[in-house]
Amino acid sequence: MPPAPTQAKLLKGPTGPRAFFFGSLLVAFVMASLCATVLYQSRHDALERARENSRNVALIAERDIERNFELYALSLQAVVDGLGSADVMALPAHLRGQLLFDRAITAQYLGSMLVVDAAGNVIMDSADDTPSKDNFADRDYFQVQRDDPNAGLYVSAPFRSRSRDGAQSIALSRRLSHPDGSFAGIVMIAINLDYFHQLFAGLSLGPHGAISLIAQDGTMIMRQPYDPAVIGRNISKASTFRHFRSATEGSFSDTSSIDGVRRMYFFRNFPKLPLIIMVAEAEPDIYAAWRRRALTIGSLMATFAIGFVVLSFVLGTQLRRRMQAESELQLLARTDSLTGLHNRRTLGDILEQEWRRAKRTRSVFSLLFVDIDRFKAYNDKYGHQAGDDALAAVARCIGENIRQPVDTAARYGGEEFIVVLPDTRLDGACAIAENIRMAISELDIEHSDSEYGHVTASIGSASWTPEQDIDVTQVIKAADRALYDAKAQGRNRVATCTA
Ligand code: GH3
Ligand code: MG
Ligand code: MG
Repeated sequence: MPPAPTQAKLLKGPTGPRAFFFGSLLVAFVMASLCATVLYQSRHDALERARENSRNVALIAERDIERNFELYALSLQAVVDGLGSADVMALPAHLRGQLLFDRAITAQYLGSMLVVDAAGNVIMDSADDTPSKDNFADRDYFQVQRDDPNAGLYVSAPFRSRSRDGAQSIALSRRLSHPDGSFAGIVMIAINLDYFHQLFAGLSLGPHGAISLIAQDGTMIMRQPYDPAVIGRNISKASTFRHFRSATEGSFSDTSSIDGVRRMYFFRNFPKLPLIIMVAEAEPDIYAAWRRRALTIGSLMATFAIGFVVLSFVLGTQLRRRMQAESELQLLARTDSLTGLHNRRTLGDILEQEWRRAKRTRSVFSLLFVDIDRFKAYNDKYGHQAGDDALAAVARCIGENIRQPVDTAARYGGEEFIVVLPDTRLDGACAIAENIRMAISELDIEHSDSEYGHVTASIGSASWTPEQDIDVTQVIKAADRALYDAKAQGRNRVATCTA
């Protein structure tokens, strides 16, 4: 087996496949990031769309409620005005009723319009010329008007009607005053909460959406999904309610205290009424379509990215193996198989390269010519295989006694070697040559036909300085001449010759 290459410079591990693999990782990462950005953006868009939808729903409900309340308020005002007119009051009861109560109040979900005296007794009923004996002095819509001359149009808290089979209602009331400003009673109209129930039921908010109408004091007037237990409850202490009173309109996300579902809330304070409309869409509903899409695109993207990386890894591995095989082949082509040193062809390349460099940088340049003494006799005596082993041992000696990787040694042919010593003057070259010679001698390989009794080598050394206008072959020839001198002087020595 040939010894490991000592001189032939191993090519560096291929960086191509690694760069290819990391490049593909980067591409996969960029693709995944782009995909994640697009998905994140579309999630954001889904929230924005939901906010816009909630706002539209809130506005539709608000406009409907405000328009109706405005009509009722006008009807109430007409009664207040009529009651102040002596001409109207002089009419018989049935005519007076027709004049005072307009037809708007016959609308669906409305109770009759009532005029109540200062003691809370009903004295006029739009639906009946002989009013019932009810007394409403205990109701908030009566007490507020009695206690505050400037209450204006009052929207009551929800209550159960005593005259309409306990129907849940709210009332609108206005104060009646005597000419001196003292309390004379109220005129009121009851609105069945079914009106809000039906209005909200017709608005689409997704399976877990909610819509609520809340009085500004926090009393819940209506909530969809409908739950009778929630009506009339005061939520002014809830965290969501604090948001409602913080601005005219706005939106925020919170977890519902009623059902624990996280929702995006949109609220609006009515501009002209003491009411707040709140529309909430459940986040699971808002993101349902997005989540399905994200799951499909995300898993496809992940599969693609992983597949891409795995494929790149496989291709990279194959590429690396191929490049390794190529570089090994290249190395073999440049190496002498017996000694592991550069072969003669590579020596030509190295010489040319170093020669050009020495000329360019104007630096000195030395060569050693190493030749084993009496090697033919060695072969004849010990056999060709022993000769080969001795050659390999000598080559190893040469490799170990030069300055790797600056200096290079090559097998010139047969039992001859050349060492190229860049940036080395003749004395330095001689010192290196002497080391090599001594090391070979110290191998102490028996050679009984040699005058020294063991294998030795003679070395010719030659140098070139920038002042000399000669060719590299002349330097080789000079080293060869020096070698010839060393042989002539008795072998196992170093000789020099100027080029
Ligand atoms: P000198 O001291 O003058 O150099 O004498 P020498 O015998 O070494 O020189 P010569 O040129 O006459 O003989 C060189 C010998 O080297 C010839 C051949 O037997 C031997 N040789 C050349 N290449 C190889 C090789 O690859 N393997 C072996 N075993 N021997 C080789
Ligand atoms: Mg020879
Ligand atoms: Mg020889």
